[in-house]
Amino acid sequence: MARPTRTFEGPYRAAANRYATMQYRRCGRSGLKLPAISLGLWHNFGDDTPHQTKRDICTTAFDHGITHFDLANNYGPKPGSAESAFGQMLREEFAGYRDEMIISSKAGYLMWPGPYGEMGSRKYMIASCDQSLKRLGVDYVDIFYSHRFDPDTPLEETMGALDHIVRSGRALYAGISSYNTDRTREAARILRDLGTPCVIHQPSYNMLNRWVERDGLLDTLEDEGIGSIAFTPLAQGLLTKKYLGGVPDGSRATQGKSLDAGVITPEMTQALNGLNDIAEARGQTLAQMAIAWVLRAGVTTALIGASKPEQVVDCAGAVANLTFTDDELTRIDALSGEKGLNLWAASSEG
Ligand code: NAP
Repeated sequence: MARPTRTFEGPYRAAANRYATMQYRRCGRSGLKLPAISLGLWHNFGDDTPHQTKRDICTTAFDHGITHFDLANNYGPKPGSAESAFGQMLREEFAGYRDEMIISSKAGYLMWPGPYGEMGSRKYMIASCDQSLKRLGVDYVDIFYSHRFDPDTPLEETMGALDHIVRSGRALYAGISSYNTDRTREAARILRDLGTPCVIHQPSYNMLNRWVERDGLLDTLEDEGIGSIAFTPLAQGLLTKKYLGGVPDGSRATQGKSLDAGVITPEMTQALNGLNDIAEARGQTLAQMAIAWVLRAGVTTALIGASKPEQVVDCAGAVANLTFTDDELTRIDALSGEKGLNLWAASSEG
């Protein structure tokens, strides 16, 4: 792929060949197509990162056909700052490209103090969506999600809020995140009855976090005609070359964020090196193989994060080889499997 990473001064113009290599896959039984690889702004898009880095990551993604940018109300730090930063990019870099982009946001985790600042009430969901639109500076987002299941709010209320958000024009499509099979079936039924289909589900899924396989979620989604966007396909960076020789400075595992350095044991390092050998034999980087592995399961799109534009270029290259032999899959299974990395289990498995 000849396109460089993007570092620039002056006005941005998207690469003319941005649609040359990316694949676009239908999201469930909807009309929406998503790129095989999507970019999330959970980490590295808050006030702790220079705006130019954020801009370079996003423009590099767009230049490589990554049309889908995933946000949430609380992405930062501080909460809301990732949406504000992306709003600035929409005004400054992407002003002419809004209709080529799929922008998502979510509500569910703590956003403001008091009883109305998190979970799944109609009060919170609609107020939070309005705040997100304001920070992003857009009239609507393409997808709006319930970010997590709320055991204390009737599902009818949370899904009713999503239905209202779509009907009122605040979002084009509705989605849910980290709901297990039973709750997904119920949410899909309620939304169907309301006339607003559940178009997409966002679960965590990677070689080291396999709750969706135990739960049967992917079969459920296929059955219901719901698309899927697998988050943390790289296990927050574990499934890249980054940790093959230990924990490098500046990596997420050193930042006291969501990746506990304690999981990088000698056994884990050995397994990652074994996986890297398989990737190299396939002519891929480990990150590319990890993305291809998630997509082989029928997932619509792999939702990566990045701290540098070069990482986006590497990940975008995954689409060059998305097939596996049975032997490769068997050897991958022998080196990977459940490692207790599902930080979202309280919603998905609780
Ligand atoms: P990830 O793709 O598993 O991990 C991203 C990290 O991997 C990067 O920050 C970087 O780590 C490293 N990396 C990426 N590409 C690399 C490459 N080619 N070579 C070496 N290292 C590479 O995903 P994630 O950032 O944890 O999550 C992705 C998105 O999923 C989020 O932004 C968000 O949109 C979504 N998400 C959703 C939920 C939910 O509840 N719905 C929860 C979590 C995440 P360094 O920073 O160390 O360089």
